[in-house]
Amino acid sequence: MLLNYDVVIIGGGPAGMAAAIAAHDSGAKTLILERDVRLGGILNQCIHQGFGLHYFGEEMTGTEYAERFRREVHKRDIDVMLEAMVLSLGEARIVTALSPERGLVKVKAGAVVLAMGCRERTAGAIALPGTRPAGIYTAGMAQKMCNIDGYLVGREVVILGSGDIGLIMARRMTTEGAKVKLVLELMPYSSGLKRNIVQCLDDYGIPIKYSHTITRVVGNPRITGIYYAPVGEDRRPILSEEKFVSCDALLLSVGLIPENDLLGGLGVEMSSVTNGACVDENRMTSLKGVFSCGNVLHVHDLVDNVSREAEIAGRAAASYAKGDLKSGEGVCVCAKDGVRYALPQRLTKGEGKVKIFFRVDGVYKGAKLVAECEGRQIFAKKFAVLAPGEMGDIEIDKAGVDGDIVVRLQR
Ligand SMILES: Cc1cc2nc3c(=O)[nH]c(=O)nc-3n(C[C@H](O)[C@H](O)[C@H](O)COP(=O)(O)OP(=O)(O)OC[C@H]3O[C@@H](n4cnc5c(N)ncnc54)[C@H](O)[C@@H]3O)c2cc1C
Repeated sequence: MLLNYDVVIIGGGPAGMAAAIAAHDSGAKTLILERDVRLGGILNQCIHQGFGLHYFGEEMTGTEYAERFRREVHKRDIDVMLEAMVLSLGEARIVTALSPERGLVKVKAGAVVLAMGCRERTAGAIALPGTRPAGIYTAGMAQKMCNIDGYLVGREVVILGSGDIGLIMARRMTTEGAKVKLVLELMPYSSGLKRNIVQCLDDYGIPIKYSHTITRVVGNPRITGIYYAPVGEDRRPILSEEKFVSCDALLLSVGLIPENDLLGGLGVEMSSVTNGACVDENRMTSLKGVFSCGNVLHVHDLVDNVSREAEIAGRAAASYAKGDLKSGEGVCVCAKDGVRYALPQRLTKGEGKVKIFFRVDGVYKGAKLVAECEGRQIFAKKFAVLAPGEMGDIEIDKAGVDGDIVVRLQR
């Protein structure tokens, strides 16, 4: 059986729900396909505060934030298929999903919104040295086991990496009675938000060692400790300064990878920096009628930005399905000189303001961020501090754009 929808959303996390609401409100017959048993995505395991300050103007937990959006989805009676794992996306926008209730489902979509989120880098992905005993978890898995399944993964914990999930889990493990002995970060700065360093480590007296990494994991069958050492400028460990710390759990918070497997073989232009698709300001990928938003597009620090980005994608997907989405002459948006990436990577010439999101490649104090078009400055702002762990945004006026844009730091 082939189902027909104007807009099909793959993934029912915060991005998928916001995109679905925006598409529905723009008059599109919309379907959400979600592989989990409930909508909400990663927020379902985030019982800590820190969500919604920008979007709702109030601080809430991840689960509360998800519930607000779930209610809006249900209020509109948007079609949702749960436990529906999307297996493929065909060139003619035929989406194939597998669900225990319906078996193999094929859906023809006028437009598709990708909202599959991201997965965590594992011990294998970073070639963690040493044995592979029990007791090594990604931080998100430890969070799920603690907050949803009710298990504490260890009592003496070391955390590798200072991504936000690791920082949140350092605090969570501590409040659950475990001792977080050490956080090790390869880079000379944190890859997480400053507020999480303060609220999750400093407030609990948890030490973090920058420019340090694990040199060996030991223990059999369960982890009994790790060796660690400082790294030189080449990021290689200085083994003569190796030290040992005992632990019964190691949490990895070493990066997230957008879940873009569905795009394999479709020839979609991808960014080697974000590991997501390259998109225009409507969040449309190079494959016409296929849009991307949320963590599957680029890793976000704040869910508020995810929701807003998904609304853009959902609205544009509805317009595309109706044949109303205007396409015009495009220009490229490139990142240079200290800016790691800028998104969207393409803009259509025309009217109106557009937000460009960016991340820098190091910690910069008092740096000036500029956007230039054909050598002309169209935006400039001085920032007290710019850090890789905090995504920034600038707003430019498209009226002044008549060629490719370069976003860079002027020092
Ligand atoms: C531990 C942690 C702590 C965080 N803390 C904060 C915080 O304090 N404040 C804040 O603002 N933000 C925080 N964030 C960030 C925020 O939660 C994320 O940016 C946001 O959840 C991303 O939304 P998403 O919809 O893109 O992805 P997700 O929430 O990951 O949702 C993706 C959904 O897609 C589904 N899916 C994937 N593939 C398929 C498929 N093939 N078929 C069907 N369904 C599929 C998944 O099951 C999932 O439900 C935190 C994130 C984490 C992980």
